[in-house]
This record gives sequence, structure tokens and C-alpha cells, in this order.
Amino acid sequence: MIQKDLLIKRFVSYVTIDTQSDENSSTTPSTQEQWDLAHKLHQELLDMGLSEVSIDDNGYIMATLPATVDKPLPTIGFIAHYDTTPDFSGTNVNPQIIENYNGKDIVLNEEADIILSPDDFDELLDYKGQTLITTDGTTLLGADDKAGITEIMEAALYLKSHPEIEHGPIRIGFTPDEEIGRGAHKFDVEKFGAEWAYTMDGSQIGELEFENFNAAGVKVFVKGKSVHPGYAKGKMINSIHIAQDFISSLPRLETPEHTSGREGFFHLNGIHGDVEETVLEYILRDHDKEHFEARKEVLNNLAAEINSQYGLELISIEIKDQYFNMREKIEPVMHIVELAEKAMRAVDVEPIIKPIRGGTDGSQLSFMGLPCPNIFAGGHNFHGRFEYVPVESMIKATEVIIKIAELAAKK
Ligand SMILES: [Zn+2]
Repeated sequence: MIQKDLLIKRFVSYVTIDTQSDENSSTTPSTQEQWDLAHKLHQELLDMGLSEVSIDDNGYIMATLPATVDKPLPTIGFIAHYDTTPDFSGTNVNPQIIENYNGKDIVLNEEADIILSPDDFDELLDYKGQTLITTDGTTLLGADDKAGITEIMEAALYLKSHPEIEHGPIRIGFTPDEEIGRGAHKFDVEKFGAEWAYTMDGSQIGELEFENFNAAGVKVFVKGKSVHPGYAKGKMINSIHIAQDFISSLPRLETPEHTSGREGFFHLNGIHGDVEETVLEYILRDHDKEHFEARKEVLNNLAAEINSQYGLELISIEIKDQYFNMREKIEPVMHIVELAEKAMRAVDVEPIIKPIRGGTDGSQLSFMGLPCPNIFAGGHNFHGRFEYVPVESMIKATEVIIKIAELAAKK
């Protein structure tokens, strides 16, 4: 029912526009380039004949697909972001379309010998016979999250041309700067006016997520005392060694490289210092709110212990919460997750429900009053040259959106 060729054409038209975001910029969108796609999307929504099409000064785009039935139904939303990560080039994306994938190595770039291989990414074999869209090995693809945008657009187009499908009001939201953690910051939840929404920003087909990390950033400041090394006995305090004691007192196995699933961690991701002062930068992650708070306590207690050993305030700690697990906001409205599950099954997609080891815009939006689970957009290997998306997964995601709209009108 979804026209594959048109979907591919639409997706390619989005990914070939550079929309890399930039965390060092303070504007919204963070980069001028993002406006190029923002204006295009705004125009396409107008051309499609949707209602209440708007774009604000910060590049947030909204539109409404009006209800097709005259009865009170909840307004539901679908959201995707149009920026791509600053971590890898998104300039001159040159998508390669591989039809009827044969399960073998895909040469992305002959010159540079860049190969997308099932030896490295074995889930490629799940897509044998399908149409894959890959990079040419020099950039990312941008399926994160232009696949999500394509799917929402295609679903809106389909529903628009099939008024016989009964559904309530559908809101569409496209945001800038998700990749630098600011996608939801200036999202006007009230203006959006949906009872709940879904971000179309997950990875492989079937993914459905309503749990993410609780997250905090930590700076540990360690003070020392510099004295001429020849005459330092009993006087010098080397902040580097104290920082080393601090680091090695934390559980070595509670780190990203030793954890998975719902296991949290302390991640030391930066250190710089000299005798006088050393600064350690950590991130804390845990799905469980109590464990998350306990991790902060561990750091504070350890600092207090070392300080008391020296009888000096050598260590001070600064902890900033970054985002929270949306689960507590979703659990009271679990029917919205069940609806998505049901919609997936109705189009022969097996739901894969698992906690996200990261955050999403949806977690922030959930805490802003818009409960917002995350649904697969279909891509793999985000944020790098091996990113690819099976077209069949994008078609399924489009069908899931249509089905959710339909089923929400049937309760
Ligand atoms: Zn994304």
C-alpha cells in the first residue's frame, strides 16, 4: 500500500541535505544548514494540504491531519528530528541503493576499501532479499532520523488520500538539535496539543521503548598542594595521586564496557590535571531511580572519606542531572505502549521491548507533560559510515503509524 519508489525518493531527498547540529552553538537550530531541510519540510506539509502547518523561530515544525470521524477522540502525535549527529560528517551524503541484498559483503567505497560486512554486523543477514540504503563510506547516512521523518510524511500522505480510514486528530512534530540533547528544549507541548505522542527514532524493526536511563554529569575537583619536589616530604599533596585513589575506589566493573541491559554505570570520560588540581569528568547512568541516587551517594561518600583521611577539603563534587527515565511517566498510561504493540502485531512486526541505554527526546517530552514512547525507524549503525536502513523496515514503520491512528479510533 505504501509506494516503495516514492518513499525511497523522499528519503534520499532528505538525507542529501546536510543538517549536522553543533553543540558549541547557542542558537536554535544550532546550525544554519538545518533551516534548508526545515523549510522544505514545512513546504511539503503545506503542499500535502495538512492543517495548522507552522514553523516557529526555532525551527520547530508542526502540522495537523484532521480527524475523519465526528466523535471525540484523543489527539495523538508523531515526532522525529531532522538534524544529524556532529560526531560524523553529514556533508555530501551519497546514498547507495542495494536491491535484493544477497547477504554478502557490500563494498561502500572501493578506493578506501570500506566494506559493510555481515562478518561485522550479522543482523545484515536478516535483510537478505530486501532493499538496503547505505552510505558511500565517507559520511553517515542520516536515517537517524530522516527515516522517521520519511515514515511520518508517508503515513500522513496515505491517510490524507484514504479518508475512509477512521482516525482522530493526528499531530506531526519535526524538531532540530536532538543529537546535541536539545531537541525537546523549546518544544511547545501546549501548542502541540496531543494527549500523547511517539518519537519515530528507534533503530531496528520492532523496537518499542518506554524506558531510558536516568542521567547525570559529574565533575570531581581534586585540590593538591605544590611544593618543590626536593623538599616536599610531608608537605606536598599531589592531586593526581588523590584522583587516582578516587578512581580506583569506584567499582571497576560498573563501567560501560562491563554492563548491559538494565545495569547502570559510572563512566569516567575525561581527566585533566597537575599537582595543584585534577578534574575528573564522569557520567552516571542507571534505569533505576534509587540506584541512580545511590550512585551519587557513593561519589559523595568517597569524597568525604578521602577528605577526612587528610583532614582537608581536597575533593569537591558537582553533580548535574541531565535527564530521567520516562518509565514513571509512561506507566500510568501504559495503554499507549499497548496500542503501539497491537499496531505492530497487526502489520506482522514482532515488538521488541527493551530499555534504552541512553536518552531520547521522548524522555524529556514525557517529563514536560507529553508521554512519548519511542518506535523503530528501521536504521542500523547510527552516527557513522556503516549506517544503513532496509527500505522494508521503513515501510513497516509507516504502516505502524497508520495502524496506530486507526486503532486509537477504535477503543
Ligand atoms: Zn535519533
